[in-house]
Amino acid sequence: MWIISAAYLFLGMFNILFAWLGMICFLVPIIMSVAGKGKGYCNNYCGRGQLLDLMGNKMKLSRYRDIPKFLKSKTFRYGFLVFFLIMFSNMVFNTYLVFKGSNELKEVITILWTFKMPWNFSEISMVNPWVSQFAFGFFSLMVTSTILGIITMILFKPRSWCVYCPMGTMTQMISKAKYNDSKGIDI
Ligand code: SF4
Repeated sequence: MWIISAAYLFLGMFNILFAWLGMICFLVPIIMSVAGKGKGYCNNYCGRGQLLDLMGNKMKLSRYRDIPKFLKSKTFRYGFLVFFLIMFSNMVFNTYLVFKGSNELKEVITILWTFKMPWNFSEISMVNPWVSQFAFGFFSLMVTSTILGIITMILFKPRSWCVYCPMGTMTQMISKAKYNDSKGIDI
């Protein structure tokens, strides 16, 4: 699955519409968790987790240090989840404004919610602008979370990102609420 994860980032650079495929990584973990598979997606299928594992363990890019306690704390993990969901909602709202015709399509990728990179080399003229706007916003989130994952992989243990990954936190919350299963992921 790590090949698919790497290919996703690569393809998005050539055609931003590939960003829509990332919705699979959003929906499948939640569906599996609701269906009683707990963190089955994280432990078996997540390409992001496998990619970080490969880079950290096989390619030896990780310093293999313990992750700081504050990153593991509930306050940080839930706080980051709330922040992530607010950013996601903002991205959906921007898509709606483009759909309504109130805003124009912004062909830009925003890295780490701050740095804007113009993205002019993708072919997007054949679809409705809101479809492209969502793709730009979603790809920005995916690239940002990949960068955060790689930074924490280098600084700490390979899968340190999984400790505070919003998808991991959400699936853990669902499992805990439904089945009282609060098991985490090995990092
Ligand atoms: S916590 Fe996030 S990155 Fe890690 S395996 Fe689960 S979904 Fe993938």
